[in-house]
Amino acid sequence: MEPNGILVYIEFSENFEIRPVSLELLSRAAFLQTKIWNQRVMACVIGPRINYENIVQKLSEYGADEIVIVSDNRLDKYNHNFHPEIFTQIAKKYPPRIILTGATPEGKEIASYTATKLETGLTADCTNLDIGKENLLLSTRPTFGGQLTADILCKTFPQMATVQEHVFTAQKRAKSPNVIFNWINIDNIEKRIELIKTIKKHSGNRDVASSDIVISGGLGACKDNGFTLIYELAQKLKAAVAGSREAFEKGYITKAQQIGQTGKTIAPKLYIAVGISGALQHLTGIKNSGKIIAINKDKNAPIFEHADIGIAGDLFEILPAIIKDFDTEYKEEQNEQ
Ligand SMILES: Cc1cc2nc3c(=O)[nH]c(=O)nc-3n(C[C@H](O)[C@H](O)[C@H](O)COP(=O)(O)OP(=O)(O)OC[C@H]3O[C@@H](n4cnc5c(N)ncnc54)[C@H](O)[C@@H]3O)c2cc1C
Repeated sequence: MEPNGILVYIEFSENFEIRPVSLELLSRAAFLQTKIWNQRVMACVIGPRINYENIVQKLSEYGADEIVIVSDNRLDKYNHNFHPEIFTQIAKKYPPRIILTGATPEGKEIASYTATKLETGLTADCTNLDIGKENLLLSTRPTFGGQLTADILCKTFPQMATVQEHVFTAQKRAKSPNVIFNWINIDNIEKRIELIKTIKKHSGNRDVASSDIVISGGLGACKDNGFTLIYELAQKLKAAVAGSREAFEKGYITKAQQIGQTGKTIAPKLYIAVGISGALQHLTGIKNSGKIIAINKDKNAPIFEHADIGIAGDLFEILPAIIKDFDTEYKEEQNEQ
């Protein structure tokens, strides 16, 4: 069968809501579709036996022409054995030209497993997707330590790419999709991995990817009580705390809090960079932020070129002043009531 279409792997949260990255990829697929003739946008849903009406509705709103559903009650949560194999079988049954998944832990496992099984290439962590010559997928990603960006045309089919959350915007383009239910005998799937235990990490931090306000600390904050001040201000602003790779390497934040090329791409309404110089690899992760405030003692720091508001000064003086101001204003408000 001639490969046709763009297949998007749909990821779900614990309460079985579609993760934003999947809608963003679906929207991008619908955009790519406008550039290549006669290709359909397919969404692959793997989940338990439930009513899929709302899910189908949502996927159709973001550009799916065809929704392939594989359901079994043992698929209520992501399973390292079942999901990658089922997705691969769907990709074999409806051979697409292009496959897109999120550059999330789940999406990366699905993509690498499928690419190996289908003996095709995979471009990971793309920062843009377009259509290039010969109607091939043109994947863009940073290379040479982020000093350059490479445009990659993979000539084997399907062409595969993973993309982080918030790289693209989810845009509505309503369609009336075909819904196809598929049955796959999951008893026949080889169980290569046994999940022994799941331990949830409680960091006490808000979710970096979905918070409206993110305060990020860099190497400048990695001393004395720098991060204590950042956490204190974050609590007052109801913000999530994140940081640069330097802050991660110094042990002040977890990997899940690192922003940038090898960390997370985020799109908060407000990003506050504290003691961060503004390296290209860091900026990649915040380019879709609403407003950026930078606090840095070096008035020539590159971050100021990207900030809407720049405060040149010592964070150990500026943060306590903001926190104190916040407390005074709060007390005045309380007294007025
Ligand atoms: C392949 C590759 C991938 C990478 N991926 C990432 C990534 O995902 N994320 C990332 O962040 N980086 C990444 N990097 C590293 C990146 O190149 C930078 O080294 C890093 O972002 C610098 O972090 P920083 O801004 O915290 O530190 P620095 O560049 O050292 O900047 C510290 C800043 O703090 C300021 N400062 C110091 N003291 C104070 C003070 N008291 N008050 C106010 N300001 C102060 C200084 O003026 C300085 O501007 C990557 C690099 C490579 C090669």
